[in-house]
Amino acid sequence: MNKVKIALLGLGNVGKGVWEIFKNNTEEIIRRSGCEIEITKILVNDINKDRGIEVPNEILTDNIEEILNDNSIQIIVELMGGVDPAADYILRAIKSKKHVVTANKQLIAIQGKELLDLARKEGVLFYYEGSVAGGIPILKGIEESLTANKIEEIVGIINGTTNYILTKMSLEGMDFETALKEAQEKGYAEADPTSDIESYDAVYKLAILTSLSFGINVNVNDIYREGISKISSHDIQNAKEFGYTIKLLAIAKERGNSLELRVHPTMIPLNHPLSNVNDSFNAILIKGNAVGDLMFYGRGAGSLPTGSAVASDIISILRNDMTLRSISLVENADLQKTILPREEFTSRYYLRLTVKDVSGVLGQISTILGKNDVSISSFIQKGEKDANNIVRIVFITHDTLEGNIMKSIEDLKKLEVVDEIKNLIRVEKFI
Ligand code: NAP
Repeated sequence: MNKVKIALLGLGNVGKGVWEIFKNNTEEIIRRSGCEIEITKILVNDINKDRGIEVPNEILTDNIEEILNDNSIQIIVELMGGVDPAADYILRAIKSKKHVVTANKQLIAIQGKELLDLARKEGVLFYYEGSVAGGIPILKGIEESLTANKIEEIVGIINGTTNYILTKMSLEGMDFETALKEAQEKGYAEADPTSDIESYDAVYKLAILTSLSFGINVNVNDIYREGISKISSHDIQNAKEFGYTIKLLAIAKERGNSLELRVHPTMIPLNHPLSNVNDSFNAILIKGNAVGDLMFYGRGAGSLPTGSAVASDIISILRNDMTLRSISLVENADLQKTILPREEFTSRYYLRLTVKDVSGVLGQISTILGKNDVSISSFIQKGEKDANNIVRIVFITHDTLEGNIMKSIEDLKKLEVVDEIKNLIRVEKFI
């Protein structure tokens, strides 16, 4: 039996999941890979930390050189996170002809092309299934099973933390701060939740999905990004009254020779399958021109689900599955597409504002919307005026160019009768 030595860089949430999977599923893994796998070294920051799992102390190291200089190690599995020093370690591993597996979305979104090009040049394999949607086999799905399709659209709930928070707000009436605190207590949100809450994490994942699906290398800064921290209980309640729920969606749509790329809170109809994707679950809807609509659903994070994707990548390398071509992130000159500027996005919009309760206020607002080519589909006034004579009103528009709604908001802010623009949320139609 062929024996293969691998090293893990990191033994945190995902690293521990990978360790457990190799320990508990040994027979399956040997049968499927044809190899006996030995994790010979694990890089950590602190070798004395209590990790709550049984790992022989002698395989832990805080010295990367022990791994990179060991020629018997054939695969390194990067599970540290961040770009620095992960990128440097991976670069050096590739140059030492070691195959690479990672779950690091930030690294792949920012520096993936450079690393994958190097891997191809050096003839080593480089997989990163765990980097998008944890345990859901979405990247191999795109790269293997959908290769005969022209992909037209991707719409996904790809951040478990924000989905957990929005689910709690929606189904249990929690406010944002309480839901975030609970997510942190349950280990769904990190102590510093910025990357999840402000949608950076979802942007990294959308960049990777876009590169694989549309054959272009996307700069993460070209993806429109909005977080969920402005969503209030009012918005959640109003959404319900209009027949919607609010989810953080990552959207990539082909629009002629351009791509519309955006990540933001979105109202989706209560009868759409994505509206029932709750808690920390993820789901990705892909529209292919042959296959039609496909929905991938499952655990988008967590120790064992992400460990499952990482361990499967290791097995793919052992099977020497060259057909996977190191999952490409190919930049194909023929497929060059421009990224659509925000002003040219098309959507329906929910607009919540407070206004003075005086006669003619609605007329003034509709005049401004009409002047900017924005037509109203629904309108409600919420409750009675307050002590300061202020009332809350909500509009949903018909399909509109984002540039027109932005201009309308600027104009509305100048109206004396408008107290405050409280929120603007896109409403996705799904055709
Ligand atoms: P984590 O719990 O913070 O674990 C990170 C591990 O890496 C720790 O064991 C840490 O050592 C080690 N480490 C970090 N920097 C190091 C350095 N400079 N030198 C040596 N060791 C270092 O992270 P995680 O949640 O497992 O995530 C790992 C990767 O998987 C990230 O890229 C993340 O984005 C990705 N990912 C995570 C999930 C998830 O559900 N958690 C899902 C999908 C993808 P110590 O333990 O000694 O501190």
